[in-house]
Amino acid sequence: MTVGAVPYGRKSVHTPAVQEIDILWITAGLSCDGDSVAITAATQPSLEDLALGAIPGLPKVRIHNPVLAYEVGDEFLAPFHKAAEGKLGPFVLVVEGSIPNEKIKEDGYWAAVGTDPKTGQPIKTTEWIDKLAPHALAIIAIGTCATYGGIPAMAGNPTGAMGLPDYLGWGWKSKAGIPIVCVPGCPVQPDNFMETVLYLLYQAAGLSPMIPLDAALRPSWLFGQTIHEQCDRGGYYEQGDFATEFGSRKCIVKLGCWGPVVNCNVARRGWVNGVGGCPNVGGLCIGCTMPGFPDKFMPFMEEPPGAKMSSAAVLLYGRTVRALRNFTRDSLDKEPSWRAPGALTSGYPPATFGK
Ligand code: SF4
Ligand code: SF4
Repeated sequence: MTVGAVPYGRKSVHTPAVQEIDILWITAGLSCDGDSVAITAATQPSLEDLALGAIPGLPKVRIHNPVLAYEVGDEFLAPFHKAAEGKLGPFVLVVEGSIPNEKIKEDGYWAAVGTDPKTGQPIKTTEWIDKLAPHALAIIAIGTCATYGGIPAMAGNPTGAMGLPDYLGWGWKSKAGIPIVCVPGCPVQPDNFMETVLYLLYQAAGLSPMIPLDAALRPSWLFGQTIHEQCDRGGYYEQGDFATEFGSRKCIVKLGCWGPVVNCNVARRGWVNGVGGCPNVGGLCIGCTMPGFPDKFMPFMEEPPGAKMSSAAVLLYGRTVRALRNFTRDSLDKEPSWRAPGALTSGYPPATFGK
């Protein structure tokens, strides 16, 4: 997809201002392409907003993603080859999918895209990353596979799969001094990714400071709170009111929700256009935005071991508080005595002045 936008640029202490930028998106890691699909549902901003230049102040953006592109084969890969040779202008590299690292698993290769015209051999995903990373203005790992390895990197996997920070190094920085930016999720929450792209484009335009990241390289304003801190069901948890089966509106911690210890914002942000967000709609949080996912969260659909103690404690306190609140609520649910049926008055005491 190659569409024009408003050219703009100003000097920044962090990155040079740029007026045109390419987004080179590799989906050749080990994954289901679910992140590319998820992004089509973004609204804040949408892909179309970005590509068509609807957002003021941004550089002109050209997005190259195989799921979205009109071009195929060598025509699609042309800007990637140009970038690998250092001949493309400024670009942001987006990596989707877990990186099968042949250096730790030498029994062949597991992922590739395109063919090397000189050798006639497939170009491995790792070769693309090795060649593109040194020239990128910034790199975004999209989804949990690309950020921390995800499901393809589970214990015992035969592929040597790993996330981008494990492959390039957690201290890696782009030529503009920007660390790898990780936007995890299985799949990624679409607006989290688009908002991150938007931030980096404003940074490239010289309009925002260095992107703030947490220790797991996630944008800190998106991943600074737990799901539990924003969940619609938090009131039930606090009152020790736990669901024993799905379909209930109560807190689902005893069914296997890891929300109290998982950094994610979908309970507040929703999923598509503000609607959804796992526990809000009855889905267990299984910790998909966390570097320990999935191994540390298994088995799924069982009460997390750490939750047993806290939910037992909350149960004691919560039941008492709930009973007391029910008294108060019953009282508040009735009109004041001076407005009770059969005894209607204004509630204003009769005037006693002069009597
Ligand atoms: S459903 Fe999960 S995130 Fe929501 S209140 Fe219960 S434990 Fe917390
Ligand atoms: S709520 Fe839990 S399972 Fe859902 S997206 Fe966030 S981290 Fe993943």
